Amino acid sequence: MTSYKLLKQDGQARRGQLKTAHGIIETPFFMPAATKGTGKYITTDDYKEIGLPALIANALLLSLRPGADLVMKAGGLHKFINYSGIMFTDCGGFQMSRGIFLNKTKNGLHFRCPFDQHKFIITPRIIMEIELALNSDVAMMLDDMSPYGASFEEAKLAMENTHRWGSESLEIHQELKEKLKSKQLLFGIVQGNFYPTLREESAKYINSLDFDGIAIGGVAIGEPKDKMYEAVESALPFITENKARYVMGVGSPLEIIELVARGIDCFDSVYPTKMARHGHIFTSKGELNIRQSRHIEDFTPLDEKCNCSTCKDYTKAYLYHLIRIDEPVFYRLVSIHNLFFINTLMKECRKAIEESRFEQFRKDIRNVYG
Ligand SMILES: [Zn+2]
Repeated sequence: MTSYKLLKQDGQARRGQLKTAHGIIETPFFMPAATKGTGKYITTDDYKEIGLPALIANALLLSLRPGADLVMKAGGLHKFINYSGIMFTDCGGFQMSRGIFLNKTKNGLHFRCPFDQHKFIITPRIIMEIELALNSDVAMMLDDMSPYGASFEEAKLAMENTHRWGSESLEIHQELKEKLKSKQLLFGIVQGNFYPTLREESAKYINSLDFDGIAIGGVAIGEPKDKMYEAVESALPFITENKARYVMGVGSPLEIIELVARGIDCFDSVYPTKMARHGHIFTSKGELNIRQSRHIEDFTPLDEKCNCSTCKDYTKAYLYHLIRIDEPVFYRLVSIHNLFFINTLMKECRKAIEESRFEQFRKDIRNVYG
């Protein structure tokens, strides 16, 4: 039985459902990063109020603090952070771009703990054990991500490690899942850097394994946009349509729409909240910079069309005042707005596909964000 159900297609854009242990997610959808069990300045209640269907946490970082055992004692990640929505957990690959990464071997990824400096290795078995202990709804396999600008040889080696770890992750996950009677889904990850032939090879291989969904990883890491689209386009034809497709790390309105147009169902990124904290606000008329002094006496909301709690209760003049005096509550209020905007965008996206007018919707977004 597959976890993804395709309900309708409009061009390449897909409207579907992803079935998980904590319910069904209507796709396409966006999930914010609650990396260490929370987003910055955002509480679990804020996520609920915004109406986001899912969150993604990082299994590797949570395993360091507070530790997978502690989360398990708390009754799993959902109970620990008091969230009843759907939770994804990411594993290792992306952390290779962070300061804690040391090196890699055929067996796994080596890191140094930022808290007590001890060295540790993440192997497919270790990360599968951690992700099952956290009891997320969707676990990600261990992957090896090569950086933007990597040579063909470097990218190929990372892809080969990813493939080997993918097979191992799947085998170990099935074995442990049975033992624990878990309903956790496992997604595979396609690598291959920005070499179309490698992306094709990787998509074919990962797709041939029995994963519940397929992610395209190693994009949105500093490359030009057309390179990102090319990497995704090189992989997509080789991913069967009955699996959910997830592009990791994408969260700008334009990029999301452009990838939905190419047949992607699932997104995650820190982009909307990071932009918000820097004063860049997504609105129905395009991006607005709340740091500009022209807002000093503007007593209208960030976006007249927005129904988020920030827009209902506060004006641009007030938010401008808060950022000028660097009040931490500013970061919460604008993060709520940007996440609400992206979540609404996804709802509109699903409706447009259902009503076979996605192409027009895409043009409208391009006009404002292109
Ligand atoms: Zn708003």
